Amino acid sequence: MSAGPADSVTRALRGRCPACGEAPLFAGVFRVVEVCDRCGVRHERQEGTWVVAAGLSAALGMFFGGGLTLWWFAEHHEVVSPLMPALVGLLAIVLSFRVLKSLLAGALHLAGEVTPDAVVEGKVIHLERAKAERERRARHGDVKKV
Ligand SMILES: [Zn+2]
Repeated sequence: MSAGPADSVTRALRGRCPACGEAPLFAGVFRVVEVCDRCGVRHERQEGTWVVAAGLSAALGMFFGGGLTLWWFAEHHEVVSPLMPALVGLLAIVLSFRVLKSLLAGALHLAGEVTPDAVVEGKVIHLERAKAERERRARHGDVKKV
């Protein structure tokens, strides 16, 4: 069975790597594995990858906390205790953050933004060799002028 485009998202929502669907996507409750143990793709390409998920999760928290405050005032014509909307908002954040991170990881893979990790693939070694070769040539005056 070949993997379709939607498989990236469904695999991630199941808590699995969106690329291989085998290895776990999360190393903790909210922490995404940096590089897949099985297929070697890098889930977090750069710092701040998950800011979108955090922002959406916070927006959901404010929506439900603020919505509760407004609904309570409309129903009971009195101001609700600030503790209740804070708890509802916090609950919305806790429940949505992992799901939103999964959705984002799946969407990033679907968009081709998840690529093999350079260290796992060994490309860093090739880059270091190329750099050493460039330096050796520069020392010996063997650099091609472009
Ligand atoms: Zn994988």
